[in-house]
Amino acid sequence: MTNIEHKYLNNTWIELSESAYANNIRFFRKIIGARPEFSVVIKANGYGHGWQSIARLAMKNQVDSFCVHSLGEALRLRRAGFNQNILIMGHVPIGRLEEAVEENFRLVVYNRETLLRLHEITASLYKLARIHLKLETGTFRQGIAQEELEWFLKELKHTPRILLEAVYTHFANIEDTTNHDYADYQRYCFNQLVRLIQSNGFPILKKHAASTAAAMLFPETHFDMVRLGIGQYGLWPSRETMVSYKEKFGEKISETLQPVLTWKARISQIKTVPADNTIGYGRTYKTTRDSRIAILPIGYSDGYDRMLSNQSYVLIKGKRAPLRGRVCMNLIMVDITDIPDVALEDEAVLIGKQGEEEITIDQLAAMSGTINYEVTARLNNEITRIIVD
Ligand SMILES: *Cc1c(COP(=O)(O)O)cnc(C)c1O
Repeated sequence: MTNIEHKYLNNTWIELSESAYANNIRFFRKIIGARPEFSVVIKANGYGHGWQSIARLAMKNQVDSFCVHSLGEALRLRRAGFNQNILIMGHVPIGRLEEAVEENFRLVVYNRETLLRLHEITASLYKLARIHLKLETGTFRQGIAQEELEWFLKELKHTPRILLEAVYTHFANIEDTTNHDYADYQRYCFNQLVRLIQSNGFPILKKHAASTAAAMLFPETHFDMVRLGIGQYGLWPSRETMVSYKEKFGEKISETLQPVLTWKARISQIKTVPADNTIGYGRTYKTTRDSRIAILPIGYSDGYDRMLSNQSYVLIKGKRAPLRGRVCMNLIMVDITDIPDVALEDEAVLIGKQGEEEITIDQLAAMSGTINYEVTARLNNEITRIIVD
């Protein structure tokens, strides 16, 4: 289907701006410089943007490699023809490690069971396993603590086909605060552990630690590779990151991030509701005047949070149309009384710009009490994604 056909044949669709994505990659390449590996994180269906479209755009913009969460995500990328390096950052079930070795994926390792199984697999297949050792520095999520490290390194010396390709860590709160003492502490711990590993005779090829916020705020965390998630999609990790970034580099900001995603839906019915009638489940909204109501064929199952009931608005003909009543599983109702000439199948923008108006992912996140990451990650993967200019 062409983009034009998509426009007429879908009830709802997501447009991805190729120029915005290219802008964001340029922006970060300038920040991290030419040397570190530029890896894009496309877990959770490319933060809800659509993994295949984003992977294609990433390659077009000379990104070096991918990070994903699961073996399934990595296999899908391979089967779609992406032959770049793929780091699986989440747990691979021990029973499926063989598939991961066969595909030459980079594997995060932080426990002895995985290491021992990888030893068996690599010995029987005569293949190398490439591991990225995750170091515990105080996030207390995944990671191997200093006490376990000694045993781990001893074992690693007897597993000739397991290649310690990199060591890495992940910061706990860089995006949550403008006070970066804890990040400094984690960086100190990381450097200590790296020294310990090196003094055990391991030539470490790579070190990495930075997600988007760290990449933006702390050049000293770039090391040999950056794992860029939210920033590539044109979203800031948080308001605090934006404040810290402007404080630190304010005068130097010439470009900024551009949101990649626009979510649209087509009006599926228009009706008049007389004054003093209630709209939707639970009868939570009552009309105060004769109202024109448009029905849109999307709801919480598509990723439009039910918390937005009676709170948010969509854009129709460049104007705001407020939600009336509760968000249903597949439908919402919006007020178009003050917007003239609205017709059946007109486009409504749920996220993004229309005319002079814009509804941002950050606004929707604030209204539903969450973060931008969750708003996009929950967009249903069945919604058609199309790439536009
Ligand atoms: C998701 C994730 C990232 C990317 O984080 P952003 O804030 O989206 O840039 C990096 N590293 C790890 C380990 C992650 O899980």
